[in-house]
Amino acid sequence: MNFLEERIAKDGIVKEGNVLKVDSFLNHQMDIKLLDEMGAEFKRRFANKPINKILTIEASGIGIACIAAQHFDVPVVFAKKSQSINLDGEMYVAEVESFTHKCKNHVIVSKKFLTPADHVLIIDDFLANGCALQGLIQIVQAAGATVEGIGIAIEKGFQSGGRIIRNACHRGRHGRRDRTHRFSSSGRTELKS
Ligand code: 5GP
Repeated sequence: MNFLEERIAKDGIVKEGNVLKVDSFLNHQMDIKLLDEMGAEFKRRFANKPINKILTIEASGIGIACIAAQHFDVPVVFAKKSQSINLDGEMYVAEVESFTHKCKNHVIVSKKFLTPADHVLIIDDFLANGCALQGLIQIVQAAGATVEGIGIAIEKGFQSGGRIIRNACHRGRHGRRDRTHRFSSSGRTELKS
């Protein structure tokens, strides 16, 4: 997605600690036309996959996932980062270390919304060390659902997440069917901080 790389180069700001700030178009203010182009690109890359659900993680994955979902015509489920009175019944829980907040969160998905019948595209805004993604993959596996693909807006290529996830996919560590799943990061960026 050259359009995204161009936008990162134009409006992204590199902060201390290997953090890329993209809050003028992705993480705080959102450029919906850009998100729509990303959604179309994800659809093009995963066109041959039987995706019936998109899974993301709150908060900043939600906008990207919702716009992408319009291209796939499927519902979005987002993993919640905290328990709330609105969460009831049985739940899948994974522990995720937050790159930006430097703390551990439990991410939670209600068992109602992920079942063995689901063919899931996981979407998130950033891939850094891969913790968020691994938590989401664990949840899909716990549900007996299939990861059909992973779509990341911005992969920080100098951090280890992409390598860890790609290796795990190639080794089939995410289950036999995962051997075929595609990993697609759109704005792969090599920051020099
Ligand atoms: P990971 O779990 O791969 O280490 O980090 C991914 C999560 O951390 C993403 O969901 C994203 O919200 C956040 N994140 C990681 N790196 C950055 C960054 O450079 N900028 C921003 N805005 N968020 C980041």
